[in-house]
Amino acid sequence: MTTASALSPEIVAKYEPVIGLEVHVQLLTATKAFCGCANRYGSAPNTNVCPTCLGLPGALPVLNRQAVAFAVLAGQALHCQIRERSIFARKNYFYPDSPKGYQISQFDKPIAEHGFIDVPTVDGSIKRIGITRAHMEEDAGKSIHDGFPDSAIRTYVDLNRCGTPLIEIVSEPDIRTPDEAFEYLTRLREILLYAGVSDCNMEEGSLRCDANVSIMPRGSSTFGKKVEVKNVNSFRFIRAALEYEIERQIEVVESGGVIAQETRLWNASEGRTYSMRSKEQAHDYRYFPEPDLPPLVVSTAWQAEIAAKLPELPEPRRQRMIAAYDLTPQDAQTLTATREFADRFEVAAHSAKSPRRLANLLLSELGGRLKAANLDLAESPVSLDGLVLAADLLEENKLSSKQLKQLFDLCFQHGEDFPAVYEREKPQQITDSSALEALIDEVIAANPKQVEQYRAGKKTVAGFFVGQVMRASKGQANPGLLNELVARKLDG
Ligand code: ADP
Ligand code: ZN
Ligand code: MG
Repeated sequence: MTTASALSPEIVAKYEPVIGLEVHVQLLTATKAFCGCANRYGSAPNTNVCPTCLGLPGALPVLNRQAVAFAVLAGQALHCQIRERSIFARKNYFYPDSPKGYQISQFDKPIAEHGFIDVPTVDGSIKRIGITRAHMEEDAGKSIHDGFPDSAIRTYVDLNRCGTPLIEIVSEPDIRTPDEAFEYLTRLREILLYAGVSDCNMEEGSLRCDANVSIMPRGSSTFGKKVEVKNVNSFRFIRAALEYEIERQIEVVESGGVIAQETRLWNASEGRTYSMRSKEQAHDYRYFPEPDLPPLVVSTAWQAEIAAKLPELPEPRRQRMIAAYDLTPQDAQTLTATREFADRFEVAAHSAKSPRRLANLLLSELGGRLKAANLDLAESPVSLDGLVLAADLLEENKLSSKQLKQLFDLCFQHGEDFPAVYEREKPQQITDSSALEALIDEVIAANPKQVEQYRAGKKTVAGFFVGQVMRASKGQANPGLLNELVARKLDG
């Protein structure tokens, strides 16, 4: 087997990849989709089961109302149209982790369709990725192939996951690069987390992604045969699997072969995909309407009730926060990483004199210290209220940044919040102009070269003098007054 990386950039550039993603997301309901069993990860094997999710004869499904509400909410968050009347369908296949012999899913009448996600691209523009559909279905159990003394000859099965409510979100084949796929998944996860419909925990399998990829000659609009890559359990690996698969397909085509429509498995330790089976077709599943469930009706009134619970979504929230608090896009991105973090920041920002300064302090000064101490915000000695006081003192020039750093040192040493430390230490400030002027004169006399630069028009050199005097004053100079006096001396 030749290695895919042997391809020259010229050859790679001849082809355009086409990518579509299918994402399965477990919904955060208390119970399963069609029975009252707990929907919980990590229980002892085969303890959250009952006749319905075990598929015992005669047991009937009853649809979980909350699962429907979450599916609708997710659909709305993804700008989908919600179908008032959707149909559950049986998808028939045999697999040991699915004792019923079929999966309850939706087929031609899914609950949500025709949505999109806006994804930022490398050139800073926004690309809209279509969402074909988001349909409801149930999860299967888990086959356990290792970890038992007799694993070499037996496979065990844990049916706790059987019947867990899922939505499958299918994208249009609009994605063109592995980076775009990564970005799409990141945004999708963020939206679902904001909507609160799933914990999207990939390690626990509550978000899983299959990637479909084909190549076509650049400039063509006729898609090639697609390969579906399964078994990829992180967004980074999705990107790697797509990169690998694109190069593999180019190589096959370049050497005169044809791409077979198939399902391939990603092997993370080898960094490559392996052929698993030829791709099954829809008709292989003998889909038919689920006879044990009536059509699902979600009235427009219920849709409106659910829509009212939809929180502000990450991207619009970022745009609003950038405008409201004068934030950089980068800071807005970090502050909205989770809804909880954004909420906490905004509560604090409302009481701060300068939200932008508060954001700076939070992300750089406090964030850096928390990271170094390996603490999260909840464990921070400096509370957000404490941080507001610190930001206000800086804003009003009642504290220099050097003094602030010294006070933060004490907070972190003693595990005390900022207001208490500030009250006790009450750092001295030099607000006496003549004392400061004396210091400024000394620094000016000692640095004639910089004075020359300043007077030749390089006004930023003022910062150098402010820094020098601040240092000479042991951080005690009133920053506002100091700035003013330095400028006056240099100009005069
Ligand atoms: P299937 O019938 O095999 O499930 P679908 O048409 O339902 O195929 O598409 C499944 C996923 O594959 C979707 O995300 C879709 O965007 C993507 N897809 C469809 N055709 C292609 C293609 N030629 N190349 C890459 N992805 C594709
Ligand atoms: Zn059950
Ligand atoms: Mg399909």
